[in-house]
Amino acid sequence: MACKTPGCTGEHGAGTIRHTVLYQERSIVLHNVPADICPDCGDVVLTEETTIVIEDLLRTNAGSPETVFVYEA
Ligand SMILES: [Zn+2]
Repeated sequence: MACKTPGCTGEHGAGTIRHTVLYQERSIVLHNVPADICPDCGDVVLTEETTIVIEDLLRTNAGSPETVFVYEA
């Protein structure tokens, strides 16, 4: 997938990232999140499926004091 960052000619490749999201005023860190990553500028794209899994994970753990999770599809 070609990178959408203006001026960048990188090609995104599949990888995993550490993804931080703000949820209920808490900063949640997710490890091992699959993403398409540009090796040139570092632009990251999450698929719709991945964001749905993340939302489910956040909802499931809404009452947990934990702020670090490992992504599991
Ligand atoms: Zn790029």
